[in-house]
Amino acid sequence: MEPPSWRPLEGQAHRIAVEVLVHGPVPRGQIARRLGLSPATLSRLTKPLIEAGLLFEVDPRPPEGRGRPSRPLDIDPSSRHFIGVKITAEKAHGVLTDIRAKVIDCQVAPFAERSPEGVVKTVAELAASLGSQVGQITALGVSAAGLTKDYQILRHAPYLGWEPDVPLAAMLREATGLATAVDNDVAAWTEAERWFGDGRDRPDFALVTTGAGVGYNLVTHRHRASGPDVGVGLLGHVPLDPLGPLCSAGHQGCAEAMLTTGALAARVSAATGRPVTYERSLELAAQGDPAARAAVTAAARAYGRLLALIANTTFVPFIIASGEGVDLAIAHRDLVRDEFAAGRSDHASPVEILLKPAPFTEWARGAAVVAIQTYVLGRA
Ligand SMILES: [Zn+2]
Repeated sequence: MEPPSWRPLEGQAHRIAVEVLVHGPVPRGQIARRLGLSPATLSRLTKPLIEAGLLFEVDPRPPEGRGRPSRPLDIDPSSRHFIGVKITAEKAHGVLTDIRAKVIDCQVAPFAERSPEGVVKTVAELAASLGSQVGQITALGVSAAGLTKDYQILRHAPYLGWEPDVPLAAMLREATGLATAVDNDVAAWTEAERWFGDGRDRPDFALVTTGAGVGYNLVTHRHRASGPDVGVGLLGHVPLDPLGPLCSAGHQGCAEAMLTTGALAARVSAATGRPVTYERSLELAAQGDPAARAAVTAAARAYGRLLALIANTTFVPFIIASGEGVDLAIAHRDLVRDEFAAGRSDHASPVEILLKPAPFTEWARGAAVVAIQTYVLGRA
């Protein structure tokens, strides 16, 4: 049987369905308040959605105190399935999800060849393998570090070495037969937090990721920052430590030079006189190796300064910090907190900082959310 369709769905009916998708099960009163609808209008608008099978009423909880029990609305999250794939320099990381981005399975496939054609071939095989577990895939989302345009084109992909525009969505559509959307990887992760993650009930928050690079995006009044500079990686080059090492662009002690996993490993390797990985750098510092400890401590302080800079310039009350590089901040939580506090004012509001260890599949889940939004919002 065909799952209930979101198309064509317009105006307030569409807003109600999205509200239930993101917040459900959700009481009718809450939907009416959020969307500024009268109870009668809400009833009139939801009736056809319930009849079409898109929404359903869940058993109400017993009312607290007096009044009629509220009748929450929900969707069936397993009515549709999506695939999200994050592309790195070496691999495609894929997930199969339901329409609420719950991960059902994840798989990784290394690239035999890193050209656009080679990557498309690997991603198509990965999508076929993930999709074979369910009857039908509604859409495919792909994310990568770099600049994208209109969810279709990868304009600049630093880790893949692709330049200029690659029509990645069209190539994948051709190879898989699936509706496909492409977006910047941090923008995609931010959408996953905004709709289905820790930012779900937060109108204002920032996401910062450290790992191979430094990623950043911002949500204000429930809207994510967008524009041509998303994906340029501008936050990666803000200065954080005048005594820090140089980045590839020649800045001394910028975020990239201080906080990327590669930069920290290089700094500890130079200080200890032997090649070590990022993970080993943190271990050596924890074991008390003085050279490793000095480098790791400086990086943790820079991390706190970066978080203070974000809070001070955006006024957000909530920052999600993640990516593989967050292990540094988790291992030196106190240093990060102290340096953050030092960069704030006694008059400033408290900021909640979530140091979120996340498996690499979190990136792919972001790509799945690009696919979900493309379908649900009716993006071409
Ligand atoms: Zn730099």
